This record gives sequence, C-alpha cells and structure tokens, in this order.
Amino acid sequence: MKILLKILIFFTLISIFYGFISGSEWGFFAHKRINRMAVYILPPEMMYFFKPNIEYITEHATDPDKLKFTNSQEGMRHFIDIDNWGEYPFETLPRDWLGVVSKYAEISIIDKDSTRLVFGPEINIFKNDTLFGSGFFCLNKDYRNFIAKKIAYSILTDKIEFPADSLNEWINIQIENPQRKKIRVVENFSQDGILPYYIYEHYRSLVKAFQNKDPKRILRLATHMGHYIGDAHVPLHTTKNYNGQLTNQVGIHAFWENSIPELLCDPEFDFFVGKAEYIDNIRDFIWDIVIKSHSLKNDVLRADSIVNSQIPDEKKYIFKERNGIVVRSQSEILIRAFDNELKNMAEQRMRNAVKSLGDIWYTAWIDAGQPELRNISSVKWTEEELIEQEILLKNQGNGIQHGCGVEH
Ligand SMILES: [Zn+2]
Repeated sequence: MKILLKILIFFTLISIFYGFISGSEWGFFAHKRINRMAVYILPPEMMYFFKPNIEYITEHATDPDKLKFTNSQEGMRHFIDIDNWGEYPFETLPRDWLGVVSKYAEISIIDKDSTRLVFGPEINIFKNDTLFGSGFFCLNKDYRNFIAKKIAYSILTDKIEFPADSLNEWINIQIENPQRKKIRVVENFSQDGILPYYIYEHYRSLVKAFQNKDPKRILRLATHMGHYIGDAHVPLHTTKNYNGQLTNQVGIHAFWENSIPELLCDPEFDFFVGKAEYIDNIRDFIWDIVIKSHSLKNDVLRADSIVNSQIPDEKKYIFKERNGIVVRSQSEILIRAFDNELKNMAEQRMRNAVKSLGDIWYTAWIDAGQPELRNISSVKWTEEELIEQEILLKNQGNGIQHGCGVEH
C-alpha cells in the first residue's frame, strides 16, 4: 500500500512538473517556425534586411512570453476572452481601443468620503440617469475627445485620478465644489485580454520604425509581431474557456498548440503559402483572424472529447524525459487521432499565421514608403543589450517561465 502511495505521489509530482513545462503558447517550436517561414515570403527588397537577421527573428519569437515576468501589462496582449463581450461575430464590440474605453470605462466622482459612479457599462445598460444618458458614447463628441486625450493611452497603467474641475474643461457638466473632488477612471476590459487592439498599435509602431530606418526597432517589433500574430491564430487564445477548464478538458490548450506541431510539423506540414501581399485594411484583417480563430474553438473542444472517449486510457500517455525531468506526455496515437479529428486545423492555422505575418510585415514596409533596407541590415547590439537578450533567452531553459500553469 505504501509503495502504491509513493508511486501515486511520484506521478502526481510528475504531472505538476508536466504542467509547468508544457504550458507555453503555440509552444516555442511553433512560434519560432512561424517567424522563420514568414521571412521567405517577403519580396527581395525586404530580404536584404530580414534574411541576414533570420536567426534573431527565429530565436526571439518567444520573447514576448518571457516579458510577462518583467512587465505586468504584457500578459494581456496575448489573448482576448472575446466571449465575455457578446455573441459571435461580436459586432457590438468596438474594434478600436478608443471605442472600447469609451464604452467600458467606469468614471466616478470621489468626494472626501464617498465615491459616486457617474458613468460605467453597468449604469449605461441598466439605468438612464448617467450624466449623458444611455448609448451616448458614440454620439457625444466631447466625451470621446475627453477619453481620447485624457484617458485612452494611459488607461493600461492602473486607475487614473485627476481633479474634478478638469472634467469641466472637456465636458460641459456642473459638479458642485469641484475643487474638493476628484475624478477616478477605472477600466475593467484589459483583464480579459487586448490581443487585437495591441496588434494594431504594434503595427503602427512597426511602420514608424521602418520610416525612421531604425534597424533595432524594426527587428524587435517585427519579431514580436510574429508572436502576437501566432497567438491570434490559436482558437483557445480567443475564449474564456482557454484551457478547457469550463468543460472538464483541462490540458487541451497545450495539447492543441504544443503537442500537434511538435510531433507533426516536420516533415508533414506544408508551408508553401505564396508571396506576401498588401493588406488594404489592417484593423479588419486582424479582427478577421481573431473571429475566425474563435469560430474554430468548439471544433477543438469537440475533437478532444471524441478522441478521449475513443482511445483507451492506457494508450493515451507515455512518460519521457524532457529538460532532464521525466514527464507525462500525450502518446503519438492520441496526438494523431486528435489531429485527424481536427482535419489538420493546426497546420492550417500555422500556414495562415505565416502568410498573415508576411503580409503584415510587407504592408508596414509599404505604408512606411518602402524605405531602402540594404544599408541597415547589419544590426549592432550594444553589450548591455546583448546581456539583456541573454537573460531573456535563459528564461527559456529553466521551465519556470510558465510556472503559473497554462495561461493564454
Ligand atoms: Zn503569447
């Protein structure tokens, strides 16, 4: 009995370790492959820059995951629980960040000892006694200006407070004794993820970097763009049921995005996706990716249920060594059955990610006026920057960076 207990504890510990190690996003493997393959679909003028730097673009594809440990705002950039914000295809959810903040921010007036909510989504839906009335947010130009200038671009840094009389400057309202009061703005949207909004802002930064012909910024932003575009193609990055925790399918996140590509990508996946093309509307393009990903979410959950009920338990898992630790892992039989049930969805999403990334890089370069890249292809990092990069890369090897389990 004691031996049995010990074995049980041993395998429980292994499972915990397994959770730690396997909880990456798209797996390091897939992120690196997407970034690398996208370089090959660029036109020759861009190849002058991207080809000599292909190793950086590949190796640093997972940097954004590691940045989560030093930047508290990084995590929210990798997903969006879009099903918290309406029904498919989510037409009532604003596609621009300003629209989101205008719609979902909560604005309160704080007196010495009382806080009164004057605007917020709850009030807007259930009451009609806000400062502006229900449904005002798109119509009231002053309010939108106020949000745009005063709030929208700093909203991601905790709550914002400012003197109440400065609200009067923007919106013509009467607050009694404004000099004694403060306005507090809280935004509760970001906690459910901001992936598509962030990709759009990131795109604008990349265009600027091309315009400035700043090789380090181009390289960093283009590499990170690959990561976010990769995440946007993963169905489980677009739902609150991101690890099957709401449907008793815990572990499905890594099953889909790690196990399948790691087993099947070489040599079975085909990455011939044609040449990079110009995107007319970047925002729509990004949202189409996210909405498509979300539309595949139920297929992923269904396929998992089917294969788990069809394959006997003793054939589902194997134990193998990974990073010096014995870990439990899905068997090849289980992974192949899952992939078959999904009709090669993971391959399709990876192919689409490669093409989308090439298209976005290409469009940013065109929108920047097609700067000559030939003379800036050799990127010289300072010693300090190299040390920083080394520290980030080291995070990759110790298995701790995903220690909080499977996240988005
Ligand atoms: Zn990520």
